[in-house]
Amino acid sequence: MIERITCVDGVIEIGARARGFTAVCPGCGECSRRVHSRYERRLADAAVGGQPVRIRLRVRRLVCTQVSCARKTFVEQVEDLTVRYGRHSQLLHTMLQTIALLLAGRAGGAADPAARGAGEPHDDAAPGPRHARAGGR
Ligand SMILES: [Zn+2]
Repeated sequence: MIERITCVDGVIEIGARARGFTAVCPGCGECSRRVHSRYERRLADAAVGGQPVRIRLRVRRLVCTQVSCARKTFVEQVEDLTVRYGRHSQLLHTMLQTIALLLAGRAGGAADPAARGAGEPHDDAAPGPRHARAGGR
């Protein structure tokens, strides 16, 4: 899930983390919610509308509470992001679409000169009285 979207020095940073508080230990299948440590994983770089996008995924290392389990700690798996670890995973694609929509909404609402200029029809800049005169009157 997306935690925050910030813009730092022209680079859009997306902070994401795994959903839920518990994670399943791959060693014994037991659920655990005891967080051992956290770290940030930089997932992918992409570009939306010419703006660079950086995705930071916060991953937790959890302590397995099963005494008999060989694994003392394990890193949680984040569906769609770490399982199918790819530069263009489905979730990333969805994220980028969301960002693109956010950017589009911001450009339309604010007085962005670039956005306004693009929507302006340039033909009206030169009205055609000369064409009327050429017609004979
Ligand atoms: Zn375990």
